[in-house]
Amino acid sequence: MVNMIIDGRKIEAEEGQTILEVAREEGIDIPTLCYHEAVSSAGACRMCVVEAGKGGRSKIVASCLYPVEDGLEVVTNSERVLDSRRTVIELLLASCPNSEILQEMAAELGVESTAFKAEDENNLCILCGLCVRACDEVVGVNAISLVNRGTKREVSTPFDDASEACIGCGSCHYICPTGAVKMEDAGGVRKIDNWNVEFELAKCKTCGNYFAPRAQLDYIKNIYGIEEDLENCPSCSA
Ligand code: SF4
Repeated sequence: MVNMIIDGRKIEAEEGQTILEVAREEGIDIPTLCYHEAVSSAGACRMCVVEAGKGGRSKIVASCLYPVEDGLEVVTNSERVLDSRRTVIELLLASCPNSEILQEMAAELGVESTAFKAEDENNLCILCGLCVRACDEVVGVNAISLVNRGTKREVSTPFDDASEACIGCGSCHYICPTGAVKMEDAGGVRKIDNWNVEFELAKCKTCGNYFAPRAQLDYIKNIYGIEEDLENCPSCSA
């Protein structure tokens, strides 16, 4: 165990935890966009910055990556921290001017406009990579990746083609903090336009509702060595 201080509060934390994990356990709010407990941290969005240090010296760090240690003092809401977050949100707003979540976070920080030149009005992707990490680390499929550099950086399938690896599970859609990954289920078909894919949905044998892409069910059968067809939705098979 390590003894540390967050916002003046003495806290006992477990070695190996990050500042963000400890803060959340203690009910201390630190805003994040690219963090999700189901996947590894990347420190990509920088919204979770805090001041951390020892002996009166501190620096701005990404709390989702920074490990706690004995004697560490953390401040989550100093003017220096808030200024850093304001700069981050202004940059993100320039990249995605119409993102609702970014607008909400900006309002909470008192940011009404961005000093940076707005780019594509329709862009919603902040390049946090959460979708890529979910596909790789949770689903185990690795159908998408962050490619190119600078202004051409984007999340894409190999060669921008329809992904052959994608199973249509939708994890990338559900985990995206800004709604950039568009998924639509209609008429027994799931479409994910970002990856140029569409999948036939299986109908639950009991309730008759469409519940999952056949490709995803085949993938699950294969991984767990299940012989029989998965014919019931999670509610009906519970
Ligand atoms: S829908 Fe496709 S790209 Fe998205 S997480 Fe699932 S397998 Fe990966």
